Amino acid sequence: MLDKLITIDEARARVLAEAKPLPAEKLSLTEVLGRALAETIVAPHAVPPFDNSGMDGYAVRTIDLLGASGEHPVRLRVVETIPAGHMPAREVRAGEAARIMTGAPIPAGADAVVQVEHTEETDGEVLVFESVRPGKNVRRAGDDVRAGERVLAAGTVLGPAEIGVLASLGFPQVRVHKRPRVAVISTGSELVEVDQPLRPGQIRNSNSYTLRALCQQLGIEATVFGIVPDDYEATRTAIAAGLEYDVLLTSGGVSVGRYDFVKEVEEALGVERRLWGVAMKPGKPLAFGVRGDTLVFGLPGNPVSAMVSFELFVKPALLRLMGYPKVTPPLYHAIIEEDIKSSDDRVHVVRVRAWREDESWHVTSTGDQGSGILRSMVGANGLAFIPGGPRGVRAGEQVEFLLLREDLQEP
Ligand code: AMP
Ligand code: MG
Repeated sequence: MLDKLITIDEARARVLAEAKPLPAEKLSLTEVLGRALAETIVAPHAVPPFDNSGMDGYAVRTIDLLGASGEHPVRLRVVETIPAGHMPAREVRAGEAARIMTGAPIPAGADAVVQVEHTEETDGEVLVFESVRPGKNVRRAGDDVRAGERVLAAGTVLGPAEIGVLASLGFPQVRVHKRPRVAVISTGSELVEVDQPLRPGQIRNSNSYTLRALCQQLGIEATVFGIVPDDYEATRTAIAAGLEYDVLLTSGGVSVGRYDFVKEVEEALGVERRLWGVAMKPGKPLAFGVRGDTLVFGLPGNPVSAMVSFELFVKPALLRLMGYPKVTPPLYHAIIEEDIKSSDDRVHVVRVRAWREDESWHVTSTGDQGSGILRSMVGANGLAFIPGGPRGVRAGEQVEFLLLREDLQEP
């Protein structure tokens, strides 16, 4: 059963069935961008904590200003100045006003603030040219957050705004889900490192770099092992070390070639196979399994296949481990701008440029779609799904696609 090709959705479901949020750790607010909260945040106090002025102006009693206008200003006595960060010294009584700055506490007796633009001050007195309603330009205690309110639910992914709210509530640290520890192993006797000369028959290892970068986009610093040659013992040593991580990503060596040892080694090391082979192109030879709590992805060696498999299967698993509530990318409908042939029954995952025009999404392929053509990922901001079967799709028809990047949306 494991040898029959399964659909992309089924494969993702099998992967996610094994991925559970990692335990929590307590981190400083400066370290939690992109982390998911592992606790619910209840406001220990109100924000703002006290009634304060929303404007630079004069704190007044609105009853004193009834009928005030440009022609008939009301004259009030200015009794003090209240800068931000200072408490008022006295109450505002009938016929009085206090000069007040944005963010300063509203003095007792005052029930509104008149903007400085609608006044004119002359020795100790202020002329007010408008009447205002109670509460005008006053930010009430608790307007933003009430004391005792549940402000952020567990699972909330922390962005700049959420981190700001936590700061405003006095949380120097919060509990967030740990990030997975990820190991990256590139297998292949033909591989050489980026800074080494190319000998006949060799190619440069690019997968270690793309996989590391894909992890970095999620805030994960992967540990990258050196290149592992297609040799049983070398593969075994590397994979045994990689199994100590939360997630092991291998690339290459997972097909049915004579020197493809990854699956065999994993099984010898106790990895339980959960799937092998997905009905998609590129990316068919995907092997996924588990050992203990470690998720083990055997990604295909072809650079494009490895990237596509990461986007479709590894990324949702990593997000689930990080405690994200939503882990699968949204699918959109787009009009495809060219005919795309399908060569077999597998879903073709076509790298596309996607853009908005006339209220709809449009996609066009990035050129040669061979699984070794890494250039097809350059400039691609989406993956379109072309159903398998003899027909393919014609220009002008609708296809489903997922957006990989928010930038790069020029037609
Ligand atoms: P494999 O899955 O090991 O059969 O590899 C499939 C193809 O991908 C072969 O042409 C490999 O040379 C190539 N390949 C494998 N690993 C890498 C890598 N780390 N970087 C670039 N190309 C690779
Ligand atoms: Mg290989």
